[in-house]
Amino acid sequence: MEETLHLQSQHHIHSDPFKPWKDVFDHLVCGVVLIDVSTRKIAYANRVALTMTKWEEEEILGGSCHDFICPAEINHCPLLDHAHSIDLDERVILGKDGRPIPILKRVTRIDIEGRAYVLESFTDIQAQKERESELETLYGTDTLTGLPNRASLEKIIEDMKMDDPMHPQVHSLIMADLDLFKNINDRFGHQAGDEVLREFGFVLKESMRKIDVVFRWGGEEFLIFARNTDSSTAAQIAERLRKLVEKTQFPIAGHITASFGIAQSRPGETFEKWFHRTDFCLSKAKHDGRNRIVDWESFVSDSWHQGKIPWIKLLDSPDKELNHQHKELLHRINELLQSMIPLQEDPQRILRIESFIAFYRDHTHYEENRFKEIAYPHREYHETEHQRILRDLASMKTKLDSGLGDYFSVVDYIVREIFVYHMSMEDTKFFPYLETKES
Ligand code: GH3
Ligand code: MG
Ligand code: MG
Repeated sequence: MEETLHLQSQHHIHSDPFKPWKDVFDHLVCGVVLIDVSTRKIAYANRVALTMTKWEEEEILGGSCHDFICPAEINHCPLLDHAHSIDLDERVILGKDGRPIPILKRVTRIDIEGRAYVLESFTDIQAQKERESELETLYGTDTLTGLPNRASLEKIIEDMKMDDPMHPQVHSLIMADLDLFKNINDRFGHQAGDEVLREFGFVLKESMRKIDVVFRWGGEEFLIFARNTDSSTAAQIAERLRKLVEKTQFPIAGHITASFGIAQSRPGETFEKWFHRTDFCLSKAKHDGRNRIVDWESFVSDSWHQGKIPWIKLLDSPDKELNHQHKELLHRINELLQSMIPLQEDPQRILRIESFIAFYRDHTHYEENRFKEIAYPHREYHETEHQRILRDLASMKTKLDSGLGDYFSVVDYIVREIFVYHMSMEDTKFFPYLETKES
């Protein structure tokens, strides 16, 4: 049976000014939301909008549009503040679970009984976006920037295997990440954000040589593979890029800065670890205040010279005891670094290593018990890593005891394997599991 629309033309007789519109809007295939321009409150949402966002009508009506559907910051709304209109633009809408849903949106102003409203209509393009990303993976190219994406990485690794094993080349990775990019989206809209990404990718690509590869790694992160380039040259390149970005006038968004992490390859190291050293440097650049570069070699030599590796936010875990132990570990690692500064022999050195190993062993037991409690799915791998590290430490200690070992290389191992790879790469992987179990 066909449904019939009963559109009331004499809507002034109703106390609800939207009644005649609602009858139409609830039959549309797209989501519709009306926002009162003067109060910025949601005055109406149709059935499709409610189903898409999973909000109940009572929850959303009268609520602020910033809190419920649009992630823009208050007073930064391009539509309400600057009276922009939008025509078939890709944006996101926030669902009740806080997840952004990609939409195609049209926004116009309308007048209902002398009051101004913003009429937003949109369709869900999530399925289309997912297909796009499957194709991107298949073809290895990012559609927004035209740059190769993460899926093309294999090719580089294969290329590197062609390097003459007798003369291994030194290459560098540079990870570039836009600073506070979320604000750009919030203030100027997703499309302006996309423009910035396109331009940023272009600037990076244009600035590098043909033999280097610039990847869109994901989101606002770009990875540069600088061939036959050592870390100090890569740091100069990154510094040039940083300055270039700083003075670039981006469309709509204007000025924006970027941070960079850099690491050169080490013979025999896996790509994953090399990448992680680079990513670690990027986290440090963000931690140190953004709009700067941090390269691994300088990070290591500064740490050696100052005897101090700083705690960075990345290492914060939701488990208080674990956090405490990790801070103690870093404190002990810093003591080891400090013990390297006076070059004369320190009789306490071997004892220090011994005490470090004992503390580390206890710490791994604590972690492994927690894994059981939270049923951490990757505990087996993590535990194998603990065993490997403890084995390496034990054999280095035996060598030190017999006078064959080299104290410097033990400390170097501890900084690299325990602090950088294990604590900041492996440990941070189980932090989210602690969170969900604890909350
Ligand atoms: P930080 O300086 O610490 O890097 O801060 P940030 O805001 O840049 O970083 P954060 O990781 O908090 O936010 C990244 C944002 O990038 C969030 C996401 O909406 C946005 N983003 C990711 N991919 C795209 C995209 O393809 N287009 C647009 N417009 N935005 C994107
Ligand atoms: Mg960023
Ligand atoms: Mg661990």
